[in-house]
Amino acid sequence: MPTQLNRVARQASLGFFALVTLIFTLAGWMLFDLCARIDEQQRHHSEADAQRALETRLDRLGRVLTDYSFWMEAYARTSKKVDVNWAYEEDNVGPSLYSDYGVNGAFILAPNGVTRYAVVGGGRSKMQLDTWLGDDQATLLAQARERSLKDGHAQGYFLIEGKPASVMVAVIRPDATYQDFKRLSYMVFVDILTPDKLAQLGQLFDLHGLTAQPGALPALAERPTLVVRSDPGIAVTFHWLVHGMGQRLLAQFLPLLATMCGLALLLVWYLRRRIALAARQTDVAEDALRHSEQRFRTVSEASSDWIWESDAEQRLAYLSERFVAVTGFSREAWLGRPLHELLGYPPSQVEEVARTPLAAGRSRRPLPCEMRDAQAKLRYCQLSAQPIISGGLLAGFRGTVCDVTEEIEAKARIEHISQHDALTGLANRHQLHRYLAQRFAEGVSASQPLHLLALDLDRFKPVNDSLGHGAGDQVLCQVARELRASVREGDLVARIGGDEFVIAVNGCLSAEQVSLLCNRMLEGIGRTMRIDEHDINIGASVGIAQAPQDGHSAEDLLRYADIALYEAKAAGRNTLRFYEPTMNQRILARRQLETELRLGLQRLEFELDFQPRFDASSQRLLGAEALVRWNHPIRGRLAPAEFIGVAEETGLILGLSDWVLQEACSQAMDWSPELIVSINLSPLEFQRDDLVARIHKVLERTGIDPARVELELTENVLLDDAAGALELMKKLKALGVRLSMDDFGTGYSSLSYLRTYPFDCLKIDRSFVSNIEVSESNAAIVEAIVSMGRALSLTVVAEGIETAGQLARIADLKCDQAQGFHLQRPLSQARFAALREQSQPREASNDASRTPVTY
Ligand code: C2E
Ligand code: CA
Ligand code: CA
Repeated sequence: MPTQLNRVARQASLGFFALVTLIFTLAGWMLFDLCARIDEQQRHHSEADAQRALETRLDRLGRVLTDYSFWMEAYARTSKKVDVNWAYEEDNVGPSLYSDYGVNGAFILAPNGVTRYAVVGGGRSKMQLDTWLGDDQATLLAQARERSLKDGHAQGYFLIEGKPASVMVAVIRPDATYQDFKRLSYMVFVDILTPDKLAQLGQLFDLHGLTAQPGALPALAERPTLVVRSDPGIAVTFHWLVHGMGQRLLAQFLPLLATMCGLALLLVWYLRRRIALAARQTDVAEDALRHSEQRFRTVSEASSDWIWESDAEQRLAYLSERFVAVTGFSREAWLGRPLHELLGYPPSQVEEVARTPLAAGRSRRPLPCEMRDAQAKLRYCQLSAQPIISGGLLAGFRGTVCDVTEEIEAKARIEHISQHDALTGLANRHQLHRYLAQRFAEGVSASQPLHLLALDLDRFKPVNDSLGHGAGDQVLCQVARELRASVREGDLVARIGGDEFVIAVNGCLSAEQVSLLCNRMLEGIGRTMRIDEHDINIGASVGIAQAPQDGHSAEDLLRYADIALYEAKAAGRNTLRFYEPTMNQRILARRQLETELRLGLQRLEFELDFQPRFDASSQRLLGAEALVRWNHPIRGRLAPAEFIGVAEETGLILGLSDWVLQEACSQAMDWSPELIVSINLSPLEFQRDDLVARIHKVLERTGIDPARVELELTENVLLDDAAGALELMKKLKALGVRLSMDDFGTGYSSLSYLRTYPFDCLKIDRSFVSNIEVSESNAAIVEAIVSMGRALSLTVVAEGIETAGQLARIADLKCDQAQGFHLQRPLSQARFAALREQSQPREASNDASRTPVTY
């Protein structure tokens, strides 16, 4: 869209165009008018000239005529009769009249009007004048008579030989007093206006192309006209040409004017074009400017940035609208005041911007600064500034202020979230590491030691499982409060896992003081908590490591505290342990074992022994329990107690168990089909979803009847995740395998488990069996278990039968089956095969007095 300015420029150029046209039109018109006037005047003048020319001729001929006629001698020679000799021969009225004066005809007429003498065209003629003049001759003669009284003559125009001619008549008289006209003759001159004569006359009076035509012709526009009349006679119209001065002037000036007009118009057109071009360019530029301004406004209003401009002293000269929205101040409140009063940065930093020229492609780093907005709220900003250079001098600065308060607050929030445990608000693992890194960077020494307490809750999982996560969360928050209350400012309490906490304690504390602190914590945690109308009792174990005594890095210290915690847990609940280097050696040994175990699994250094199970009363072989052994390349044959723990801790138990399951089932395929194979499962396997699939795979691969496979689980399985375990056991039962509860009575065994879970068999732990002969209470327990098992249709097995007496006692107590060294020790594959061979005939003969195999 053209701007106002451009519209004005265009209109002005159009007006200029019109003005030039008007001026030249006016000049042209004036020129025409002037020329016409000049021509008109010239015409008038030339008409006067023509009049004068005719008069001059008439005058001249008239004088000649009167000279000839008012002459004594002429009278004497012509009054009676014309003396032809005198007249013609002596050339008194002869040819010289024609040759000298151009008189075409000279006549001498008698007083009665008869022609006596005639010279026509310079020669004698018999011509009668009245043949030319007719009746008008008499009138003319009468006029001549009349005018002779005043020495005059008569004159008139007549058509003679087709041309206008001037005819002049005078009486011939001896002197002026003579009045007797009846006796006077007449002298007549006929002057035919031939083209030659007219041309001569014209030349003389500057009347070009003079023509004479008989009659009064209408005036011609292009030629001057003179009409003369005579009575008697005819009217004669004279025409001639005037080379009009006006026309000539016009002819000279008009092209000049036209050229000038053309040039002027061309100039105007050119200027107009230039103006239009310039206007278009300014339009484009203004358009671009407008767009850019619009863009700028949109951007500046959309962003949280506000824009400022200042003079060289950094006094604000401009503030964008966003300033008001972002800061809450009015612009007037700050215009004219220094920017650094608002943003609180050192003014030299902005001056620096003007001093250091910007390298190409690099942008200046914004300056972080802070300000208080209209509500006095602290806001964080980033200030960017550019120098305004005008004429090589610093005129001021301009830049933006980006409000990054929300960003910084969000960052702080994220930082807090990333550093803290969402549930308890304690520091998290991340924050703990940062804290320790900083603490070690500051320097840890004997005078400034650091104690690291690793704390793990006991019996927390059952709370979570039985009362739900809400209750569990409340317990954790209560513990967090307890721990926070026990430490001082500057110490750190972190939650690094479900129920694992780490406390960093500063200060020069003795071992007793640390123990006291830990015991206070344990006491606090151990107090009965009332949550959702439930009384909850939990405990905790603590491992303590100290820097610089035990370690010099955060990682070491954490690890040592963890080792100490492990030991504390192993030592029983609600205890604390200080780290000792020997603990570390045990850990190292365990790690060594882990490496070897991994290798052993790859090399298949394992084998299975089978401990037979017998009918308690008949001692008939009913099956065998697979017990794994490790043929360690250096340490020799190792019992499960030496490596199962590590295998469970490291997860290697899964691979090992896979091998055991496969091996046990495939060997059992060689046994007689009624024999059952028992396989021990680790609680760890129960925590994984793939157990059912793994068992299913083994059953499929070996093709064994699932009813012959018995999986032995311990109560721990039920303790860790009671609901999940039930789910899993149902699925296992769906495969068709048997489930037996191992080591019954050692854990938190509750007879109610037996009712809830789909067990087929329960194995009474050997601790009950070992003193069954001497302890009546143990016997009573075994009896109760047996009767309970029977009531629930479970097979009850007594483990660890070492003597014949024990065997007899449990048989008495109606225990179904028995297993123990007294009956059979765990046997190698070959020995178990031999046993099966033996037992078959014995089975047939039903011989109970069998001697145990010895090793
Ligand atoms: P367990 O399931 O209670 O297995 C019975 C243990 O008692 C075996 O020890 C066996 O040798 C021992 N034993 C049997 N009769 C007597 C007796 O009359 N007197 C005494 N004092 N001990 C007897 P072992 O083979 O050393 O196994 C120890 C434990 O290792 C097993 O206890 C079982 O919990 C675990 N275990 C063995 N093999 C495996 C396996 O393949 N997988 C898993 N997860 N654990 C296994
Ligand atoms: Ca077992
Ligand atoms: Ca057992």
